[in-house]
Amino acid sequence: ARAREAQKQWRHSSWDERRRLLQHIMDHLLAHSDELCRVVVQDSGKTMENAIAGEIWPVCEKLRWTIRNGEKYLKTENVWTPLFPHKRAMIEYHPLGVIGVICPWNYPLQNIMGPTIPALMAGNGVVVKVSEAVAWSSARFLRIFQEALESIGYPSDLVQIVNGYGETGAALVRSGVELIVFTGSMPNGRRIIEGSAENITPVILELGGKDPMIICDDADLDQAVHAALGGVFINCGQNCLAAERLLVFDGIYDRFTEAVAGYVNNFRQGPPLGGEPVDVGAIVSPIQIDLVERLVNDAVSKGARVLAGGKRTLTDQGQYFQPTILADVTDDMDITREETFGPVMCIRRVSGEEEAIQIANGADYGLSSTVFTTDKDRARRLANQLEAGSTCINDFGFTYMAMGLPFGGVKGSGFGRLNGAEGLRACTNRKAVLEDRIALHKPIRIYPVTPHDYDIAKRTIQMIYRRGILGRIGNLFGLIGLQLRKATGR
Ligand code: NAD
Repeated sequence: ARAREAQKQWRHSSWDERRRLLQHIMDHLLAHSDELCRVVVQDSGKTMENAIAGEIWPVCEKLRWTIRNGEKYLKTENVWTPLFPHKRAMIEYHPLGVIGVICPWNYPLQNIMGPTIPALMAGNGVVVKVSEAVAWSSARFLRIFQEALESIGYPSDLVQIVNGYGETGAALVRSGVELIVFTGSMPNGRRIIEGSAENITPVILELGGKDPMIICDDADLDQAVHAALGGVFINCGQNCLAAERLLVFDGIYDRFTEAVAGYVNNFRQGPPLGGEPVDVGAIVSPIQIDLVERLVNDAVSKGARVLAGGKRTLTDQGQYFQPTILADVTDDMDITREETFGPVMCIRRVSGEEEAIQIANGADYGLSSTVFTTDKDRARRLANQLEAGSTCINDFGFTYMAMGLPFGGVKGSGFGRLNGAEGLRACTNRKAVLEDRIALHKPIRIYPVTPHDYDIAKRTIQMIYRRGILGRIGNLFGLIGLQLRKATGR
């Protein structure tokens, strides 16, 4: 109710005021980035490097993109409609009202900011339900919005952050907000859809992934190796876009596995604020580390080769799972289907393009995908066949940082898009308006129906849509005749 009240004022804010709000948020992030990263690290256990590159940087890029492009994609757009040349057809992008955002724990700051930035730019209020696993840091992040709103003279109630467990999220879904943006797991995505049916609340679902990374035999080995390390171990693997399935061509398999193992076996792991740099941090919750352990144990029991790690570690200091490489992963292992969300590289040997695509598309998910090859045609051919919301060629995850591109998934990874023009417009009522360009003020007489009306409509349709000019002209004359008869009552 408080956000709704504040939004009544915010919906009339100018583009300039909205840009100023976002610029204040950016200034705050830049001025306090060290402190904010430490807050993120304390709450999540990720490394400082992952916090600055994975939380602050994408949010700054999203702010910059939205400040530059928000007005362009949200201002009223004219659409040419040849059927009514005397009318002006327009799409107006009206704010929806209050948007409910439900967040997971993997990016405590970014998960809040990502959906809230476009929502605010589009004139909405926002109620964010943060994850119970990273509730502590959210109080600090709320201050960013409050200070920015106060500095431009708008009520700080516009953005609310609420804490709680699943039932609080469920209450938000049923609270009458105008849109729910849910980022989280597939099972809870189903619950969101169920809850949203009550008030017919639209939803955007950003769910999990089991993203494939295809490494062809002509790939640049060093480039592919480093992308794979990043794709798997960034954020300790707790990354919706994580490269969960490495599909490596036969011709490069041995060189690739040897190279990644060389790095991972030397990774340093430990508390991220301990003074020394660490490569891999902690896992957020006990539930999550149990899941990772179960999947790794299952794979090993079914024949996966452990090239690095494979076990819990540093148990007296938190939830740490060793950076792990499993080679020769096969279909019967749970880890080939279930999202791991942990520091585990799963490598599978494939004979060529056909097998790679068949395995890649065999998952229930379809969030993102990656292809490594030095052959441009091959890259496009593979990308065209991948069932995913995005494909990044010869880099890992950059599609997310290109903020003009839409972000979201297909299949079990959800629906709706967050970034780019689509993400902004998703926060609006895309309202169609038709107004007079030339005011005719002539009634279109539909009633009472006359014996000529059916033929008039038929002739009109033929005149407009028939192939060939002669047929059209013939119908035009027929139409004139019918209209005259109608007018004279014959
Ligand atoms: P989760 O589904 O357990 O929880 C997400 C949020 O939903 C939490 O705030 C939780 O309290 C809330 N919630 C739980 N039950 C609910 C209910 N019945 N109704 C409403 N809200 C409810 O997910 P998680 O474990 O926090 O996060 C990990 C998952 O998030 C992974 O599957 C990951 O892939 C996914 N994820 C996806 C993206 C993306 O953009 N596609 C980004 C990050 C994370």
